[in-house]
Amino acid sequence: MSISVLYGRDINKDFTMEFNFATRKIGKPGTAWDGNLSVPSDSAQKYSWQIPEHVVAATGMSTVLDDRLIHSMGKSSPEILAAKHGIVGQVVCGVLYPDSGSLEASVRTLLENGLKTIPYGGGSSVNGSLMPYVGHETVSIDMKNFSSIHIGKNFVRAGSGVTGSDLEAALWKAGYTCGNFPESFRYSTVGGWVATGAVGQESNQYGGIRDIALSVSLLTSSGRIEDINVPSQSAGITALDISLGSAGSTGIITDVTLKTFRIPRRRYYHSYFFRSFEDGLRALQESEKPPTVARLSDETETEFAIRSNAAGVVQKLFRAYLDVRGMGNGAILIVVNNEAPWKMGTSGSVYSGGIPAKMWERDRYLRPGLANLLWKAGYIPDTLETAANWEYLPDLYRDVRESFSEMKKQYDFNGIIMAHISHLYRSGACIYFTFVLSTVFKREIETLDAVRDGIIKAFLRNHGAITHHHGMGALFRPYLDGSHMSLMKRIRDPMYGGVPTTPC
Ligand SMILES: Cc1cc2nc3c(=O)[nH]c(=O)nc-3n(C[C@H](O)[C@H](O)[C@H](O)COP(=O)(O)OP(=O)(O)OC[C@H]3O[C@@H](n4cnc5c(N)ncnc54)[C@H](O)[C@@H]3O)c2cc1C
Repeated sequence: MSISVLYGRDINKDFTMEFNFATRKIGKPGTAWDGNLSVPSDSAQKYSWQIPEHVVAATGMSTVLDDRLIHSMGKSSPEILAAKHGIVGQVVCGVLYPDSGSLEASVRTLLENGLKTIPYGGGSSVNGSLMPYVGHETVSIDMKNFSSIHIGKNFVRAGSGVTGSDLEAALWKAGYTCGNFPESFRYSTVGGWVATGAVGQESNQYGGIRDIALSVSLLTSSGRIEDINVPSQSAGITALDISLGSAGSTGIITDVTLKTFRIPRRRYYHSYFFRSFEDGLRALQESEKPPTVARLSDETETEFAIRSNAAGVVQKLFRAYLDVRGMGNGAILIVVNNEAPWKMGTSGSVYSGGIPAKMWERDRYLRPGLANLLWKAGYIPDTLETAANWEYLPDLYRDVRESFSEMKKQYDFNGIIMAHISHLYRSGACIYFTFVLSTVFKREIETLDAVRDGIIKAFLRNHGAITHHHGMGALFRPYLDGSHMSLMKRIRDPMYGGVPTTPC
């Protein structure tokens, strides 16, 4: 039995040029792999559970192993790497595909029979929150049949299983957008966005899901909590309040109401070069009105962007222009702004036209296809992100890179790390690190764990968040402080079967 565990069913863009450049830069790959988790048929037996027949019949759950495996993991690199090595952790004992007519009765049957639940949206989680907790019999509740969309005046009510692309397709026909565009937009769902506290690429204008969501309907083990649909309220704690960032631990979100906005009439594209990433950081900090999208890449990521998007002569001309302007090997800032052109307020940058921003937009949901190529060739790609106040960002950036170099020496591998600023706030920004490990021939899992641990500890040492938008899950729980653990424990629903913050 073999199932694909990489991200994306239809990411077909050819990233050959970028891939070739990347592999030249980062050295030899480890062992090649087809991207599938293979479970020998004679070991499938060890994942079987004795669910009473009447429960299976009453709920209509699937107990097919493929289905259960795919619903027991997300798309984080540690989970993908474990799958590469044929390692399967705890597996859910069944998968339910309820609709609004069957959900409550099915969940009641599960609870009466001592089973726990984990809600499942698009499966694009990168924090380990889809792993069931060892010791529980847990059923994954796949929300894909919660697919209704009702468009109101400046709001939309959507079933929690609606994907970003389906939601926006419906809204665009009516002249609206909800403004949340995570890179996983094609697969991630409205319910998953709320449960992870997702932030889309245009957050400078629209905000993250915490700003866009207005209310939810939440099914808990003690009944349904239905927020009323109002623009704002102060009537105590709402179901939305306990759902945001919950990782599904407070109940199953069935419907979400989101703000909507008129679609922009026109988009403007710009790019700027800075002598260094730190110069760019200073300029962004001073910018009073950030554009819809601003992505400032460090020098390494900038080199990747130029090498992979501009071929031959164009690349040489572009480089020559930057050299003449004193910006060779600098840092690029890509800008997309709705409705009006945007201008960099401070001096110290060189304008480099709209094409780089247009190229970024063209590939904005396809970039994970490059990670798939790297995985298959035998590299280990990964990403971690955080947010910190402006004053801490330069040191945080340096510390993360130093930690990566230290790990290279300690674990004896090659690799590369790069970063960009992706979401701007008054007090600071989100910084997103991409790293690729190569020539890790032995101890791949241990090496990746150590690199991630080093980076997350550097975040925390430099006053950064554990994560800015990837949400809480088993992979980040070791870094959560005691008071937040006990807060999450207080609001956890007893029906939750994911890895808890504290022992049950
Ligand atoms: C390539 C890639 C790019 C990404 N880019 C971004 C990005 O730009 N911005 C960003 O914020 N994130 C990003 N992510 C992370 C991920 O897409 C988000 O966390 C997303 O919100 C998860 O949504 P999902 O529907 O896939 O949820 P799932 O992965 O299915 O679930 C995630 C968590 O939410 C819970 N959950 C899901 N549905 C419900 C529900 N109905 N009720 C209660 N709990 C529920 C699950 O139990 C789980 O704990 C990216 C991930 C990948 C793989």
